[in-house]
Amino acid sequence: MTTDCIFCKIVRGELPSQTLYQDELVTAFRDIHPVAPTHILVIPNAHSSSVTEMGDADGDTLGRIVAVANQLAKQEGILESGFRLLVNAGPDAGQVVFHTHFHLIGGRGLGPMIAR
Ligand code: 5GP
Ligand code: ZN
Repeated sequence: MTTDCIFCKIVRGELPSQTLYQDELVTAFRDIHPVAPTHILVIPNAHSSSVTEMGDADGDTLGRIVAVANQLAKQEGILESGFRLLVNAGPDAGQVVFHTHFHLIGGRGLGPMIAR
């Protein structure tokens, strides 16, 4: 937990968000600037600045993130049509918020994964 991290503030309920799910390990809320009909961020409650700081010791949290993303995909009606679950890490990936987060994106054809 850090005091000035916006996602830590969302976890603590100090910043408004459209929170869809929260338990002792993870929180899921709608992205403020959605790129598709479904754009949800699934994040660990515990602060880490990037997925590069996570690993074997975070197995429970990472497993929960995948389980929650699948559950939310089902709720959003995109489990069958498909979705992306992706992480941006570092400058080349365009990471702008330095609290680890997984984007759950779907609800339309998303095109090729990466522009060539
Ligand atoms: P990144 O590029 O770091 O992977 O993505 C950060 C994401 O966080 C962006 O999609 C951005 O729209 C979202 N975001 C940034 N600030 C806020 C906020 O205060 N609330 C919510 N719900 N999403 C945010
Ligand atoms: Zn944080």
